[in-house]
Amino acid sequence: MILIDGKKVAAELKSDLKKELEPFIAAGKTCGLAVIIVGEDPASKVYVRNKINSCREVGIKSFSYELPEDVSEKEIIDIIDKLNDDKDIYGILVQLPLPKHLDERKILSKIDPKKDVDGFSPYQTGKLLLGEKCFPSCTPSGVMQLLKYYSVPLSGKNAVVIGRSNTVGKPMAIMLLKENATVTVTHSKTQNIGEITSKADVLVVAMGKPRFVKADMVKDGAVVIDVGINRVDGKLCGDVDFENVKDKCSYITPVPGGVGPMTVAMLMKNTVDAFFME
Ligand code: NAP
Repeated sequence: MILIDGKKVAAELKSDLKKELEPFIAAGKTCGLAVIIVGEDPASKVYVRNKINSCREVGIKSFSYELPEDVSEKEIIDIIDKLNDDKDIYGILVQLPLPKHLDERKILSKIDPKKDVDGFSPYQTGKLLLGEKCFPSCTPSGVMQLLKYYSVPLSGKNAVVIGRSNTVGKPMAIMLLKENATVTVTHSKTQNIGEITSKADVLVVAMGKPRFVKADMVKDGAVVIDVGINRVDGKLCGDVDFENVKDKCSYITPVPGGVGPMTVAMLMKNTVDAFFME
């Protein structure tokens, strides 16, 4: 079994991005990423801190907007409008989830699609579906980067995705399909899920259910990618029962240290790509 090292792959990617950007920053250019966070959700704060630290590593200038829980939709949209017009800002992201009184879709739709480095907009999602150059959603593209780094063959292989969210499961399926895998997407209404997952050469799990995938659901020699991040008794764990599954796998990602660091690295990549697309 080979443990996939997301931290290492992410660090290498960020170092490459830094080298690409360096001469332009030295020449006085700014590659800016704006991050909007609303409220005090501790997990969101950790994610935003990681993103800001990664920006620093790469040479991207981060602009963070920390807004109170009771901020109005209009106030957020006014900030987005200004950022859309700011020539130094190449990426804008709104940290999700937003408090209940705010309309997430409406707010996200105000971001200029060309600055949508999270890749959540209909514009970027549509381009992904059509196989056009786009800012792909960061978590599934991070998974693809890991599979590529470890030279995992995909063409003609059975790939199973658990989860069909717009930000992870669905774009994941599209990306695997593009690499000629035969893709099955499963969800909460899927019957006999273990029967399906146990035929997977590559199994990507993105459901948010701690240690749901047990050893008897995994084929011998499978590649298992665990996207899940769950907190159980104050500790992080994935959607895969790692301790019991790992010995059946050819490759497996740990949680933490697998997909998580790649998500942030791909956000950096999308932002640098936006800068060079100018
Ligand atoms: P989500 O929007 O809640 O979607 C969860 C998906 O899992 C849904 O499609 C749901 O099916 C499916 N599901 C739930 N219970 C199931 C069951 N018993 N059997 C089969 N499918 C089931 O979550 P998400 O945003 O995709 O995130 C999934 C997990 O990944 C979470 O733990 C999240 O924290 C983590 N995550 C990690 C990263 C990272 O950087 N590592 C990034 C994003 C998300 P239905 O559609 O039928 O409801």
